[in-house]
Amino acid sequence: MTRYLFWEDSYAREFETQVMSASGNEIILNSTCFYPSSGGQPSDTGTINGIDVIDVRKREDGEIVHTLQSVGGIGSGDTVKGILDWDRRYRLMRLHSAGHVVSGILSKNFGVRKHTGIQIYEDRVRMGFDIARLDKEVSTSIESEFNRVVAENHQIVAKMLTWELVNSDSSLKTVSEDRYEKIDVPRVLDIVGFDKQLDGGTHVRSTGEIGEIEIIGRENKGRNDKRIIFTIRGL
Ligand SMILES: [Zn+2]
Repeated sequence: MTRYLFWEDSYAREFETQVMSASGNEIILNSTCFYPSSGGQPSDTGTINGIDVIDVRKREDGEIVHTLQSVGGIGSGDTVKGILDWDRRYRLMRLHSAGHVVSGILSKNFGVRKHTGIQIYEDRVRMGFDIARLDKEVSTSIESEFNRVVAENHQIVAKMLTWELVNSDSSLKTVSEDRYEKIDVPRVLDIVGFDKQLDGGTHVRSTGEIGEIEIIGRENKGRNDKRIIFTIRGL
């Protein structure tokens, strides 16, 4: 089974490893820093032995499949070097962590219990949730609360747990089912002293690293489905 280096160290941007299997332009590695698209976070880009990685996905059995631009003579057992497009990945990490902070604010300050989806792009995030009113005042309040949480510089820590623990701990239960991500692993992202939720993504180490957000769009998709689009200033 592939080792998920992107979980062990979300800041690792280069790695060397062996090819477990290769089929056409798809390869599976012993270990990888390439994040497969899931939970609204897009897959990483970069190169393996200088060949562009155009897609990364997690198979149902948990193996990570890298699709390369071309076959490039890479075969089973070869040692290869992977390099992430770090600028892009780091932006995605800041934006994903920002999504969790916004989610925490919505739950704490506005009683939001249900999310309707999240999509993280390279330069913005779109989030949907159940709130009756989403006007300029609410939007400004989310921004200022966000910027306060950034100034407080909370640590962000991810931990693997077991489903038994998740299901028996009521404080974890409340964060799992009604949030926006479909999670198939019992991994918890803890914004220490602020918010906890199940999560499979890659994140920055503290809220101070995210920077301040700016809400650049609001959409009304119905009574129970409002969307915000936000970016990070100077991203
Ligand atoms: Zn997440």
